[in-house]
Amino acid sequence: MLFQKTIKNQIEVEGIGLHSGQKAKLRFKPAMPNTGIVFVRTDLLGSPFIKVSSNKVVDTKLATTLGSDRFKVSTVEHCLCAMSALRIDNLIIELEGEEIPIIDGSSKHFLLALQKVGLIEQDWARKYWVLQDAIRVEQGDKWAEVTPYHGLRVSVSVEFDHPKIKSQSLDLDINESVFASEIAGARTFGFMSDVERLQKLGLAKGGSLSNAIVLDDEKILNPEGLRWPDEFVRHKLLDALGDLSLLGFPLMGHLKLHKAGHELMHRLVEKIIQESKSSRLMEMSFDLSN
Ligand SMILES: [Zn+2]
Repeated sequence: MLFQKTIKNQIEVEGIGLHSGQKAKLRFKPAMPNTGIVFVRTDLLGSPFIKVSSNKVVDTKLATTLGSDRFKVSTVEHCLCAMSALRIDNLIIELEGEEIPIIDGSSKHFLLALQKVGLIEQDWARKYWVLQDAIRVEQGDKWAEVTPYHGLRVSVSVEFDHPKIKSQSLDLDINESVFASEIAGARTFGFMSDVERLQKLGLAKGGSLSNAIVLDDEKILNPEGLRWPDEFVRHKLLDALGDLSLLGFPLMGHLKLHKAGHELMHRLVEKIIQESKSSRLMEMSFDLSN
């Protein structure tokens, strides 16, 4: 049987929000078994909290935002993918501000902080979503699918009409070391034309070449260039892993995505939870993916 995990001690991460440009601080704290991942807005009266789950998603346009009618927690995916990769089941994340800090636009900082503080096993069995049949969602030429697999495998392909991106694809079995070496450092990216449009709308105020790859019509504007030639598809895989956390439990399956973003991932997650004939929650005796 595999047991749930949390972190050994609390640890803080600080930065600014990509869209708000405001300072934000995160405090990761250990949590009891069966807590799940819970965000707490400590800057608001009564410290309201929200548990990471698919039915708490209120926006998927630019990033994945969780919330209620009273408050929001936005851009959660770069932080949640580190928890997915480390198989952290239970965690309290205290947040002062609405947005998770963007740091360098990747997940590296969150991963290093959580690895530094270390994990402990807890005295409760972990449950997994296990696929019996394929589940698929589509929108135009974009699609997302999961099929039965013993472990967690992710295959992603992207297509952009840009000379520096074009078509890229990646297929990886995900575990902590693969995530750390191949995915965690891949930065978010955007096009100069979109950045100008977003800033006119009061968004991307904290956006800069230090926290995103920015492209004009022909080239990459960051003087340091890319961390990998296919950093774009690597970041899409990072986002997808973050969005998988909305399942509330880890997935045993092969996730395949083509041009899929946060919205399609959210629809796929909802379908996995709803289609009880094709997927179910169960304890596992061993985990090849770890
Ligand atoms: Zn992202």
